[in-house]
Amino acid sequence: MHSFDLIRDMGHEQVVLCNDSDVGLRAIIAIHNTHLGPALGGSRMWTYESEDAALVDALRLSKGMTYKAAVSGLNLGGGKTVIMGDPEKDKSEGLFRALGRFIEGLNGRYITAEDVGTSVDDMEYVFMETSHVVGVAESHGGSGDPSPFTAYGTLRGIEACVERRLPGKKLKDLTVAIQGMGHVGTHLAHRLAEAGATLYVTDINEERCREATGGLKKVTVVRPAEIYGVVCDVFAPCALGAILNPKTVEALKCSVVAGAANNQLETLEMAEVLRKRNILYAPDYAINAGGLMNVFLELESYSKDRATRMVSKIYNTIHTICDIAEREGLSTARAADLMAERRLETVSKLRRTYLQRTPPHSRSRMPS
Ligand code: NAD
Repeated sequence: MHSFDLIRDMGHEQVVLCNDSDVGLRAIIAIHNTHLGPALGGSRMWTYESEDAALVDALRLSKGMTYKAAVSGLNLGGGKTVIMGDPEKDKSEGLFRALGRFIEGLNGRYITAEDVGTSVDDMEYVFMETSHVVGVAESHGGSGDPSPFTAYGTLRGIEACVERRLPGKKLKDLTVAIQGMGHVGTHLAHRLAEAGATLYVTDINEERCREATGGLKKVTVVRPAEIYGVVCDVFAPCALGAILNPKTVEALKCSVVAGAANNQLETLEMAEVLRKRNILYAPDYAINAGGLMNVFLELESYSKDRATRMVSKIYNTIHTICDIAEREGLSTARAADLMAERRLETVSKLRRTYLQRTPPHSRSRMPS
């Protein structure tokens, strides 16, 4: 694979290969874009088939973080770490501390957090070597589990979508089908149930599903394959990615798709298919940005109230994306990309002008 061609084509600034044979660390830190601020994105640990597969994942995920931060109005860039290894077998204090030292060496250009295959406990070790880590435990001044904030942002996004597609309907009037009763799905189900909505839920883990819905009223548990065909107002994917494919989109009987799962569209074309079916799709990286907003505030002065106020604005972001989509005749997915790209372009122009006009010795703090 021609790594430099790939990095240039995807617009990355820097890719760091990290090796520490003593502790068995092999990791890639990809920094996509720092024009809005330091690159923030979690550290994923996975048994990649090859080094190329790990690199491609790091590049794809870090670019996604740039777009997520940009559309959410955050002064953050996009980055990601992938650690090649089995999260069940290969974790150690030494491995995460070594990663922490590599991150420290980047001097704040990249900030990490937990991700698939890593946990708050692992981030504690990273935190021993660098302060450039967020999502650490509340006992260490961090913000703890981001899932409740992701769920709240998803709820606000659902409210915006319903206003556009089903005017007059309130949360209590809605029927919502939730796929995945994990961290986010469970919080979302509880919030919707409190508001009086009728729920259909599913999870491949039946026990988790039973536990998560215990005590809730107006909830029906369905089998995983049945969730796409539930007659409902909103389908909320909160499990895995790539679940919107030609077969599932055809089966949907909803007016809105709005959920927290990452990378829901199997291909961008699926967004057009949803549009033609008159199903309003809330772009995943815009509606699920609540967790990112929550950890972002750890870099400033964190408070739950401030985080809640910030996350609530996902409602406005979804409305803005819908406005762009309607005005420019685009799918909402393409409209979200455009909104992010326009903000990046505006800030990049300001940055270029500043650098041209200001000699190096008189420059104040400016994204790298
Ligand atoms: P989680 O692992 O706690 O929950 C996912 C749940 O989905 C699990 O209970 C799993 O059994 C279930 N599941 C998997 N495949 C399924 C299928 N085919 N049908 C039904 N259920 C299935 O994860 P989470 O933290 O709740 O995150 C959910 C989604 O939201 C993920 O895509 C994640 O990347 C995304 N997300 C999460 C956050 C966050 O703050 N946790 C932030 C942004 C995005």
